Amino acid sequence: MNKTVLKVAGLHVAYGGIKAVKGIDLEVNEGELIALIGANGAGKTTTLKAITGTLPACKVEGTISYLGESLKGTKSFHLVEKKLAMVPEGRGVFTRMSIRENLMMGAYTRTDKAGVEADIEKWFDVFPRLKERAAQMAGTLSGGEQQMLAMARALMSHPKLLLLDEPSMGLSPIMVEKIFEVIRKVSSEGITILLVEQNARLALQAAHRGYVMDSGLVIMGGNAAAMLDDPRVKAAYLGE
Ligand code: ATP
Repeated sequence: MNKTVLKVAGLHVAYGGIKAVKGIDLEVNEGELIALIGANGAGKTTTLKAITGTLPACKVEGTISYLGESLKGTKSFHLVEKKLAMVPEGRGVFTRMSIRENLMMGAYTRTDKAGVEADIEKWFDVFPRLKERAAQMAGTLSGGEQQMLAMARALMSHPKLLLLDEPSMGLSPIMVEKIFEVIRKVSSEGITILLVEQNARLALQAAHRGYVMDSGLVIMGGNAAAMLDDPRVKAAYLGE
């Protein structure tokens, strides 16, 4: 059995009177790609924000452990040092910096200059579009290119866990295919990923295991291929 990277147990989150997450358990093991799917407002993003400690003032209960350590009270800027990287919805690239500068920022905790340069080249090979535009300001990139940059920047920190929030959002079908190609590639390098997605089919096709969230609860979980075949998943999330 692979080592557990992330374990969420009995997580509750309430925004004032609204209970967004109602006692969920999740586990992500080393090397896994886990898809967390569900409809709008199911509580997926709230769950990721609870993990990274980036929720606005609200009530959080339960335990979140990362590599065997509680993340309670960890400031989000310390997560990079702990090798936990998040690519948020909306991406958050540094718009007034070039692609190359964004990638350097992703590696700011690293001191191995030659290694950082080698990694930039490595991710440029995976994302040739970024290579072609290395000196271009990130703010002038297309949505899909910004998504790729945000992922490459997160990868520059050598994460032990990569959290991706809706990477396909707002992208054209071709770009969505490309992003998923890259997610598979990153996963095949052994990087552990928790992927939140509304595109249930692509997410489950890429993932090892999946969880379905509905109205703040995890209502189903298991092998991703089996979930793709499950009639309830087909009817509710795959439009079949
Ligand atoms: P989506 O795919 O639409 O982003 P989601 O599954 O990620 O959906 P969340 O964003 O986690 O869902 O939202 C879960 C619930 O919590 C929703 O009902 C939402 O309106 C509510 N919610 C989220 N953020 C806040 C907030 N800052 N204040 C109050 N309610 C919030």
